[in-house]
Amino acid sequence: ENSVENHAFEADVARLLHMMVHSVYSDRNVFLRELISNAADACEKLRYEAITNPSLAGGDGENRITLTLDEEGKRLTIEDNGIGMSRAEMIEALGTIARSGTRAFMERIEAAKSEKNYNDTQLIGQFGVGFYSCFMVAEKVDVVSRRAGSSEAWRWSSDGKGSYAIDAVEPVDAPARGTRITLHLLDDAGTYTSRWTIEKIIKDQSGHVPVPIMLVEKPGAEAVRVTDGSALWTRSKSEISAEEYTDFYRSLSGQYDEPALNVHFRAEGRHEYTTLAFVPGSQPFDMFDPDRKGRMKLYVKRVFITDDADLVPRYLRFVRGLVDTSDLPLNMSREMIQESPILSAIRKGVTSRVLTAIEKLAESDADGFAKLWENFGPVLKEGIYEDFERRSQLLALSRFRTTTSGEAFRSLADYVRDAKDEQKTIYYLTGGNPDQLRASPQLEGFRARGIEVLLLTDSIDSFWVMNAPEFEGKSFKSITQGATDLSQFSKPEGEVQEKRPETTAVLDELIAFAKLRLTDAVSDVRVSDRLTESAVCLVASEGGYDRQLEKILHGAGR
Ligand code: ADP
Ligand code: MG
Repeated sequence: ENSVENHAFEADVARLLHMMVHSVYSDRNVFLRELISNAADACEKLRYEAITNPSLAGGDGENRITLTLDEEGKRLTIEDNGIGMSRAEMIEALGTIARSGTRAFMERIEAAKSEKNYNDTQLIGQFGVGFYSCFMVAEKVDVVSRRAGSSEAWRWSSDGKGSYAIDAVEPVDAPARGTRITLHLLDDAGTYTSRWTIEKIIKDQSGHVPVPIMLVEKPGAEAVRVTDGSALWTRSKSEISAEEYTDFYRSLSGQYDEPALNVHFRAEGRHEYTTLAFVPGSQPFDMFDPDRKGRMKLYVKRVFITDDADLVPRYLRFVRGLVDTSDLPLNMSREMIQESPILSAIRKGVTSRVLTAIEKLAESDADGFAKLWENFGPVLKEGIYEDFERRSQLLALSRFRTTTSGEAFRSLADYVRDAKDEQKTIYYLTGGNPDQLRASPQLEGFRARGIEVLLLTDSIDSFWVMNAPEFEGKSFKSITQGATDLSQFSKPEGEVQEKRPETTAVLDELIAFAKLRLTDAVSDVRVSDRLTESAVCLVASEGGYDRQLEKILHGAGR
């Protein structure tokens, strides 16, 4: 007997759905991009699994995505002959929003909303709620799916209001392989049964999905091909318009913004591969996930292999795109992928190209680069810490707020050019935010002498400075650490040049007293020329941790 089981969505999903339906309304066409890109992913997964298990692809030839319009029945159906889902996979994939867990997910949304440039229409893509976007246009959704190679088929149905049902369906009522999603459209969503509307949306949003898309105008009519599923990256750069690149970027990455940069090239010679990579125009939601994973896709001869091949270093994990190579076999195991010397050569090549493109942007478009740096600087700087080979390149690329920069950014080249002749050190101060740092008493002596100090406010800053990098022969020094002899620097002209204060007997007595009273709290008390207005300040010892790092480590240890 076929019994229907009811399940509740994970907590908060109902709230999330409600919010999406009501705040993302302005661009609800995006539901179609989400469903088409899921269908294309399913076809690519099948192609890949069929390499080791060819029988999976048997029976139902070429991969395709078919949309069927039913004006009378007010239904839109999206069907693919991809990998399909088992019962367990349906529960896992369609019953859980953003598999990282609903709570974390809701927190991200709350956090994003409080940001000043929060943008409703980016919400779905930014948070990867993909599939659920169909409830913007449907009052009820049925998903019938058959996993490739299986004789069972299952139906998942929901009105998107808090629960879903799963039941078995007769194999004759299911696709021979893959997934059929039927949207029972809301009263005001009738336009999604219009051929003209659907064709336009497909061409606008999904024109370069690498699986052909077919359209059936009404039930029983013949399928007409709308897009050919050719791979955009195999075409030459000069034939591709900016709009085509943007469409492709959006369907590939699930982002809804304009890419800040695209890097498209074909490498020939020792290794042959094509790369099409994008630097997003805004921060992807998963940029600070602890796994720090990249999302670049690996293709071999246009067959999607994996998005887990570490094609760029961790500090470029915000880059979206793909590498397609003919140098690798199709049936590579995970271990082979991890250890392949060909892939490490490709990785080097891609990294260089992406960094070069960012450098070019820095030279040609200061505002564009400032925006990119605002978004991705904190991640790029991880490379100063981790990638010894590219350390000086990344230092040169880095931008900083300083005591003289105001709200703008300065490069280290700017800093060194404007530094005093006798200055051998690049001074910095680490802490929570620029305004807080600007108020620090530690800066008084530097300001009085016109010495610029970098204000380092990202957590990663406390780490890379520890690797004792150098820039153009100058070392970095924390102004809160150890003794700093500022008397070597003269004050600006016109000001009285004061001498280092003589340690008088009175002062000696005061210091001895302070040392005695603070013996458990500090290791030393000394006269300093780093202050001009404040009486005292705390500094870390020369060999010890910088004060900000101490705070970060302390926070992490709890
Ligand atoms: P994402 O695509 O980012 O993983 P979605 O919400 O769009 O998130 O989809 C959730 C999951 O549901 C997918 O990862 C996939 O496992 C499954 N899924 C959705 N649509 C299909 C489909 N047409 N065929 C097979 N699996 C699908
Ligand atoms: Mg998706």
